[in-house]
Amino acid sequence: MAMLPYETADTMGLRWTDNAYDLIEAQKLVVTFTGTQEVPVVQVSGLCPRCGDPFTADQVLAAALANGDVLGDQGTDRDMHPDAGSWRRIVVSCECTEPHDGRPAERPHGCGITYVIEIDENSAG
Ligand SMILES: [Zn+2]
Ligand SMILES: [Zn+2]
Repeated sequence: MAMLPYETADTMGLRWTDNAYDLIEAQKLVVTFTGTQEVPVVQVSGLCPRCGDPFTADQVLAAALANGDVLGDQGTDRDMHPDAGSWRRIVVSCECTEPHDGRPAERPHGCGITYVIEIDENSAG
């Protein structure tokens, strides 16, 4: 969907996070651990919850956690997961390589959105 303009109004909308959950359920968005214990890295790859373009993004888990409150506490409360200790929130930005109208020159990739996904460290390899 390359004709979709770059998102500027609702860049961190909760709907992108909601869409991401649906994509993960459908296994169209996959999170895998690729780092070490010292430098935990996750690779997120699949379809963007907004533009639908395929992308792959590496996130250093520690850095992602430092930004973990970027979206505030919108509905992803830890009581969803009683065993909250192993659940990590990861902030992901679209990194697709398709063109989107209005994308700033300093952003070579993506359609402008940022969203949060939650992963269970214990269930990931
Ligand atoms: Zn895109
Ligand atoms: Zn996108």
